[in-house]
Amino acid sequence: MAEKRAIISVSGLVQGIGFRPFVYRLAIRRGLRGYVKNLGDAGVRIDVSGDESVIKMLLTDLAEEKIPLAVYTKIDVDWREVSEEHLGFTIDTSDISTNEVKHSFIPPDVSICPDCLREMYDPRDRHYLYPFTCCALCGPRFTTIVDLPYDRERTTMIDFPLCDDCGREFYDPLDRRFNAQTICDPLCGPRMTLYHLDGSIVQGGTPLTLAARLLNEGSIVAMKGIGGIHLATKTTDDDPLLMLRERRRKPGKPFAVMSPDLENAQKFALITETEREHMTSPARPIVALRKREPFPLSPLISPGLHTVGI
Ligand SMILES: [Zn+2]
Ligand SMILES: [Zn+2]
Repeated sequence: MAEKRAIISVSGLVQGIGFRPFVYRLAIRRGLRGYVKNLGDAGVRIDVSGDESVIKMLLTDLAEEKIPLAVYTKIDVDWREVSEEHLGFTIDTSDISTNEVKHSFIPPDVSICPDCLREMYDPRDRHYLYPFTCCALCGPRFTTIVDLPYDRERTTMIDFPLCDDCGREFYDPLDRRFNAQTICDPLCGPRMTLYHLDGSIVQGGTPLTLAARLLNEGSIVAMKGIGGIHLATKTTDDDPLLMLRERRRKPGKPFAVMSPDLENAQKFALITETEREHMTSPARPIVALRKREPFPLSPLISPGLHTVGI
């Protein structure tokens, strides 16, 4: 039994993706003492004390059980004699003293994960139809970050203090929202309001159902989301698309189509295996797919092209 202390510096994509809770769980499982904390350079420091062989096992765990979104560009281990005694393992207050990002990346926005999506469609869940639903594995990062290290107080979520339910999840190491900085729900998070062009509020239902109805009727709806304004309209009729093209003064630029799932997208496009992988990856990029012929949507979506962006 050789008691040692290791200061492990991890660079790469390690903030804003549930990395600290991941390290916390590994360290608790191995019975190690110490802390993990975010650094101002977008990296993470893990300071552990315990049996040397067990610390080495933790290093193996970090590699072998790496969470999907994490990217390591550099892992430095500084072995020392045990000096200060930590009683347990904690997620420590971030260190804001360093702020030059060298070997690490600022975390990107990540598309909603299957668990959050399921909650969004579950009428019994408190996130039911709540568009800002997220967890430690998904949700906005880059667009909410004001400064590093990545913590709620340095994101635009600072204006939305956690309610009791969200707070319980945030502090529960076994919860998938443990230590997730941008979580919220209808009680404590941002709310939606639907406005007419003149700035008056549209009455007569929830903003979501009203917006859906307006889209079906051929209106243009501008959605102010987390990363900007998103214009949407009906894709099956020519008139709304003509109106959008006139107003945007974009006569021929292709528009991308939103689809709730792959099954729906296959009704108007052909999807290869590689394209399918891209479309369901955490980045959820717009993928240009071959149009199905005859194309069931309006030809004004991508005039003159054999592809459509989805
Ligand atoms: Zn999620
Ligand atoms: Zn809440």
